[in-house]
Amino acid sequence: MTASCDRPGLMAIEDAKANILALVQRVSETETIPLEQSLDRMLAQDVCSNINVPGFNNSAMDGYAFRHQDLVELETLTLVGKSFAGRSYEKPLLPGECVRIMTGAAMPDGADTVMMQENAIVDGDNISFIKVPDIGNDVRLAGESIKKDSLVGATGKRLNAADIGLLSTLGCAQVTVYRRLKVAIFSTGDELMRAGDTYQTHKIYDGNRPSIIALLTKLNCEVVDFGIVPDDKDTIRNIMQQADQSADCVITSGGVSVGEADFIKDILAEIGKIDFWKIAIKPGKPLAFGRLPNSIFFGLPGNPVSAFVTFNQIATDALKTMSGETLSLPHTFDAVATEMLRKQPGRVDYQRGRCFVNEQGQLCVASTGPQGSGIFSSFANSNCYIVLERERGRVQAGETVKVQLYDHTLT
Ligand code: AMP
Ligand code: MG
Repeated sequence: MTASCDRPGLMAIEDAKANILALVQRVSETETIPLEQSLDRMLAQDVCSNINVPGFNNSAMDGYAFRHQDLVELETLTLVGKSFAGRSYEKPLLPGECVRIMTGAAMPDGADTVMMQENAIVDGDNISFIKVPDIGNDVRLAGESIKKDSLVGATGKRLNAADIGLLSTLGCAQVTVYRRLKVAIFSTGDELMRAGDTYQTHKIYDGNRPSIIALLTKLNCEVVDFGIVPDDKDTIRNIMQQADQSADCVITSGGVSVGEADFIKDILAEIGKIDFWKIAIKPGKPLAFGRLPNSIFFGLPGNPVSAFVTFNQIATDALKTMSGETLSLPHTFDAVATEMLRKQPGRVDYQRGRCFVNEQGQLCVASTGPQGSGIFSSFANSNCYIVLERERGRVQAGETVKVQLYDHTLT
């Protein structure tokens, strides 16, 4: 693997992502589960429809069903019965006849058109209309929503609520999906306290593990939580080996810089294969990536914003790929910066912003304030990343910038 970059020691994020995606593998095991339990699971098979939806011609309105041709010769039709959803009029319709029909009720044999009841003049069993509709008016044809044998879900699709609705309309009770990805996680640092611990001076609460666990949960990974591990090489090595045995991917935070208590790289080199990269992004420059005997490894930086951003921008696509998901492009738009944005050329910035539409209908974006890698509050009230290109410098108010709107897996 080469660090192809135009600045010594700094790898372009695209290269880092491509290197990682070339190395990770999708889980191979699949399972067949009830459709109701399949939210956010990845289809492991193409799903085609066994039936037409709707399965029969039916009415889109409450009104009257008849043969369009009859209105050429007749002004008045004779009401001969009713067709309800689930309880249809079973006899064929004869010339000059019509039936009262409800939304979703089957069209009687011979009928081809529906007129909504608001346009009907009813005189006992004599029905006439205030205008003549087009043939086929307000009829939902068999198969117009889904044709029999058509593809309704491709392998690799992450099933969302609409997919579950669609598959339900086909009578699909079970789906075959990839097994959930197992991800082990721990934070490293002698300075870390757990939420709930009594506050101690010169220590800090662990902010990374809870946020990364939440992101993993959104990705629908199975999380194995190894908690907080002190900056002790033997202890970290021991937990790293346990984590490797229990998961497809191991994620740590902290200890990947060049400080005297930063052991992650050494341990990885001992028990696995390590690629340590300085990536040309801000925040989040140092990232350890590698392979352990049983799993893929991500060593996220310790600073909370850096850990979150590198997880979002680099680890997420790898985990989706390993989970069997077909990747889609991020939701990226051009927006007008409403204020000056500080930026130095050399790295891609992922600043946190708030996107909105102004009174002129323009998509605009404002910064959420100071963007330091320890300032996690920059995420509060943000709804997008402002992605500032590598060689770009300071942005002036009024300039166009790229924004990446958060999707449900990003925050
Ligand atoms: P490190 O990469 O271990 O040198 O950590 C870089 C910075 O991030 C230091 O200021 C750490 O105290 C801080 N840090 C490391 N891990 C965490 C964590 N889990 N939660 C919050 N801050 C952290
Ligand atoms: Mg540390």
